[in-house]
Amino acid sequence: MNTIPSATFYGSSLKGYTPPALRENARKLYGDASNAKCFCFPTQSAALEAAAKLPALQLFSEDLDTSGTRHYLLATYEDFWHIYKKRAKKHFYEVIRENVSCKLYFDLEYIRTCNTHVQEEELIATISKLVASGLKQILKRKESSLLPYLKCLVLDSSSNEKFSKHLIFPKIVFPTNRIAGKFVWKLLQMSDSCSNLLVLKPAQNEMQTVLAIDLSVYSRNRCFRILGSSKYGENRPLTIGQTFDQKLFYETLVCYLHSDDVLCIDDVQIGYIQSLDDNSLSSTLKGYSIQKVFHDAINIPHSKGSPYPLIDKFIESVICDGQVKGSIRSVLFLSSSQKLVYNIQKYRYCHRIGRHHKSNHILMIVELNTMLYYQKCLDPECRAIDYRSPPRLLPEQLWSEFQSITK
Ligand SMILES: [Zn+2]
Repeated sequence: MNTIPSATFYGSSLKGYTPPALRENARKLYGDASNAKCFCFPTQSAALEAAAKLPALQLFSEDLDTSGTRHYLLATYEDFWHIYKKRAKKHFYEVIRENVSCKLYFDLEYIRTCNTHVQEEELIATISKLVASGLKQILKRKESSLLPYLKCLVLDSSSNEKFSKHLIFPKIVFPTNRIAGKFVWKLLQMSDSCSNLLVLKPAQNEMQTVLAIDLSVYSRNRCFRILGSSKYGENRPLTIGQTFDQKLFYETLVCYLHSDDVLCIDDVQIGYIQSLDDNSLSSTLKGYSIQKVFHDAINIPHSKGSPYPLIDKFIESVICDGQVKGSIRSVLFLSSSQKLVYNIQKYRYCHRIGRHHKSNHILMIVELNTMLYYQKCLDPECRAIDYRSPPRLLPEQLWSEFQSITK
């Protein structure tokens, strides 16, 4: 078997690992057209298990027929792109894994003939306004300073009968998909313009009032259709109004996080958004089980950790001394650069000044491709010089959480 190059990319000197995948099958399906490689899995659970051990790889799925049969592919973004652009028939989805960080995104849909009153532009404008005012409440900043972060990509696969768009905000990110869902839910609760977001949907001889925003996309391990792809058996791909290159394609992927020039909104901050007193939304949407969808996001205290609990534990052991015991407030997993960014609370020791900062928080960064970790800082002076402490190696016993796919 071939060795996948750049062992360091997958973690250097790590134990060999071959996921229980149909590797030859994958090569037959996807390997001929290029040197790009990916692993192919018949079930989501097998794919998720392998993905957890291979942080360099991303999970995608592909429709195999109209009945919902899919298989799952693990590949780097780079390899996936090479495979994807050469596929004539594209029926692919990004799997938005639990505990993996993601961008803010919305899935909008309704049947046009039942909703001739709906102004499409107004619908999108209402959502953008909601996002802006939610951010304003959280960050206590002027809207003008937030403008660069409000960039919104609109992907369209509408037909004459059906309105169907994805909105992606590439510069607003969340530690997990569930927290993204919670943010969206809070936006809806603070809104007095929700009526702009309601549409009619035919259901058992009557019309139901529902949200144009599909809230089920924020549930666990969702498959979310990607730019250029149609559902199987349909020729209605998601388009962006122009031909797209690799860079634009990546920007539209919900889990592709590379830059840290983004607004990261965590669970604590979402709590700063003021809800309207009466739960007018829920009563408007009588019969619609939003509560059920959001039960998890709102009521179950979720883990503040990354997909790598042993690394979280190690970082917790680093952020304490005789006097102060710090804790992890949130973790961002930058999947494309394979970094974990820990937002630390209470413990503020900065190596640049050799003492604790008075008020500014520190960050701990773990690079999964090199197994190094170091400290960064939210202090303006430290940020100005992009300060990072001398890197140190993670303890060797943690490396076994990751395994290379060289064999
Ligand atoms: Zn500092």
